[in-house]
Amino acid sequence: MTTRLDTEADIQSTAQVSVAPQFDRIALIGFGLIGGSIARAARQQGLAKEIVATARSAATRARVIELGLVDRVVETNGEAVKDADLVILCIPVGACGAVAQEIAGHLKRGAIVSDVGSVKGAVVQDMAAHLPANVHFVPAHPVAGTEHSGPDSGFAELFINRWCILTPPEGVESSAVEKLRTFWAALGARVEIMTPEHHDLVLAITSHLPHLIAYTIVGTADELAQVTSSEVIKFSAGGFRDFTRIAASDPIMWRDVFLANKEAVLEMLGTFNEDLSRLTRAIRRGDGEALFDHFSRTRAIRRGIVEIGQDSAAPDFGRPHAQLEKKAD
Ligand code: NAP
Repeated sequence: MTTRLDTEADIQSTAQVSVAPQFDRIALIGFGLIGGSIARAARQQGLAKEIVATARSAATRARVIELGLVDRVVETNGEAVKDADLVILCIPVGACGAVAQEIAGHLKRGAIVSDVGSVKGAVVQDMAAHLPANVHFVPAHPVAGTEHSGPDSGFAELFINRWCILTPPEGVESSAVEKLRTFWAALGARVEIMTPEHHDLVLAITSHLPHLIAYTIVGTADELAQVTSSEVIKFSAGGFRDFTRIAASDPIMWRDVFLANKEAVLEMLGTFNEDLSRLTRAIRRGDGEALFDHFSRTRAIRRGIVEIGQDSAAPDFGRPHAQLEKKAD
């Protein structure tokens, strides 16, 4: 295995890798941000003798060939998984069941079959219904991403120092779980195991609800009558800009996430609405103490996230340095 240690974070996460997994053939179904990042990182780390990829459209498949990031690009999902030791579905969660059904008859005995879906309960159910008993199904979710999608958007460092959650169904062989854990650790991720139900609850509050709020606020600003669109864009650095980045995330992926994680999202949304009502009441009553206490608590949470290295405290000016230098002239 080749190990490139570029940053302190690399060193920290790579330290978890005990033995580099060697797969003879990895099959990636879907080649967007996540599939493309896995291909780049797996190749950089030498984790497979051969990486085979496919994507739904001919245009994406042609682009993957141009990028030269995998050994072979094939036209069908069935062809992709043939003789693969590790198969990873890197497609929207709503498509996983149908693709599992399509590949079921082509999988190699003893293969590890996984996915990267942002929702686990529904995906595990949809896929498990079709997979044969002689493969090891180990679902996964790398909690890492950007608002970009497509074959050009991936990068090898995406998973470094990020969490990857595995949700192995009961009874799956522990050696298969261990092999996938080692694979993700070699891509730079820290790995945690939990049940699909718990995963969906945790992600509903840490990822799904924030995206829903961002989608809402950007839509609301767009429909305002008293403030023009150009003013919203011009003064976006007041906080709005950060929401627009999240609200630019792929519409198909996020449609599927909310459809698949309906129960957990609705539960978190209920709690959120109660808290929002409390803050609304504090503003209406001029209750500065309640507002101050709440904002102090949330500031501590942000500092905690920075402390554990999941974000940087560096100021994000949101504009290229060139512009700053030009202004100083
Ligand atoms: P992406 O960049 O949009 O790529 C999606 C890929 O799936 C493309 O290759 C696309 O093929 C293919 N695809 C789309 N619909 C399909 C269908 N109905 N059947 C078969 N293939 C289909 O998406 P991504 O961001 O990599 O997300 C992929 C998965 O990763 C999703 O399940 C998502 O929940 C999960 N995830 C995403 C993030 C994130 O931040 N983006 C983070 C963690 C996990 P074409 O290009 O040919 O259309």
